Amino acid sequence: MKNLTFFSLVVLSFSTLFVQAQHQHHAKCGHKQSFERSLLSDTLDALSYEIHLNEINTSFKTIDAYTIVNLMSKVDNLDEIKLELLDLTVDGVFVDNQPIADFEHNSPWLVIPLSTPMNTGDEAEVRVEYHGEPFYEGWGGFHFSGSYAFNLGVGFVSDPHNLGKAWFPCIDDFKDRAFYEIFVTLDEPKKAVCGGTLLEVVNNGNGTNTYHWKLENDIPTYLASVAIGEYENVPSVFESMTGEDIPIGIYVKPNDTSKVAGSFANLIPILDAFESYFGPYPWERVGYVSTAKGAMEHATNIAYPHSSINGNLSNEWLFAHELSHMYFGDLVTCGSAGDMWLNEGWAVFCELMYREGIYGVDEYREEYRDKHFNVLHKAHIIDDGYLALYGIPAEYTYGETVYQKGCIVTHTLRNYMGDDLFFPAVKAYLETYQSNYASSWDLRDALQPNMPTQTGLKSHLWMPNGKWKPM
Ligand SMILES: [Zn+2]
Repeated sequence: MKNLTFFSLVVLSFSTLFVQAQHQHHAKCGHKQSFERSLLSDTLDALSYEIHLNEINTSFKTIDAYTIVNLMSKVDNLDEIKLELLDLTVDGVFVDNQPIADFEHNSPWLVIPLSTPMNTGDEAEVRVEYHGEPFYEGWGGFHFSGSYAFNLGVGFVSDPHNLGKAWFPCIDDFKDRAFYEIFVTLDEPKKAVCGGTLLEVVNNGNGTNTYHWKLENDIPTYLASVAIGEYENVPSVFESMTGEDIPIGIYVKPNDTSKVAGSFANLIPILDAFESYFGPYPWERVGYVSTAKGAMEHATNIAYPHSSINGNLSNEWLFAHELSHMYFGDLVTCGSAGDMWLNEGWAVFCELMYREGIYGVDEYREEYRDKHFNVLHKAHIIDDGYLALYGIPAEYTYGETVYQKGCIVTHTLRNYMGDDLFFPAVKAYLETYQSNYASSWDLRDALQPNMPTQTGLKSHLWMPNGKWKPM
């Protein structure tokens, strides 16, 4: 994601890169080294969500909804189901169609006692009915804007940052992935735009329509999305390197349809470039939806600021950044907030890569030098210290170090390894961890086989006082 106000700031040195991380690292590497608190997903796996937004009242700024969550226990003798739902009022809870009277909801915790404990592998269907005014902060959450409403899946201030819980009960972390179907009932002529494919629009015969969206691939909660309002779709098609035609849908305000062609003129060349670097586009749709705030990389349905759809290329870097998250963040998700540079540092790196892809390597170098200059001069000031990339404090999860220093480190990896070794290793990383999460150590281990020297990545790039050379 990218807060546009961040763009006017910017970015450090490698001297403390991964210093904190060294304390977390033990002899055996892998997922478990992620820096995190205990998670609901340690005990329960959410398999699927069916979210029904029966009413979104833009006048009162409220929603009325129910969500069906299919869950599988990861432990034995589980005698309660614990989900998160922020602020909203719970009206009823059912487990396998049986009403549960003695549930407790102390926001965000929704605790549902089970009459029969679940054992490992047991599944349960939980239906939660709820209503109220959804949570939002300055950036993330569920927002109303005039006759429009939309969610942004993370909050920069909220800790933890995940804000699926702002609009549906869930296991709200970066690790748990599930399948989504979303049903939204709206007064005509409003439309609902969600991730995945629009399967049908049911005319209810009472002046309302119900939009039914389904996403083929699994995602973590923060990448689920909905935006409603009077949208017009500007459709096109992208022919993937696989030969498959992938639909593109850019949903904008009716008055903005004429601006789409100018602002997104290079969308297909940028998709071509990303495919050449990182492999086939991994989702069923390329999608943007115009919103009052953004930008946010919801899977196949990027929330993209109204102001950035202006008919020219001035914000091309922003839609390229968000598009690259379909690989870095959405396909492979950071395992914890402390690993956020795997999402954001790589997306900023892709701001360089798209420039090289469509404008040439000189454009890449020019942009890189600007970013490098700013990292060295400003990141430690903006983030109040020289921070290691991994295990960053929550208040700086979305700060300059993660974004801009993360980009510079990724560039340095590319330069150190060389393109012939770097890009195959990145593709292998994406393939290994697709539809999954990865830790910083997972990335290191994925790149390590292609490192040009025996001493490798750790000692050359990620240690204090590591050597590096500008491209
Ligand atoms: Zn981003």
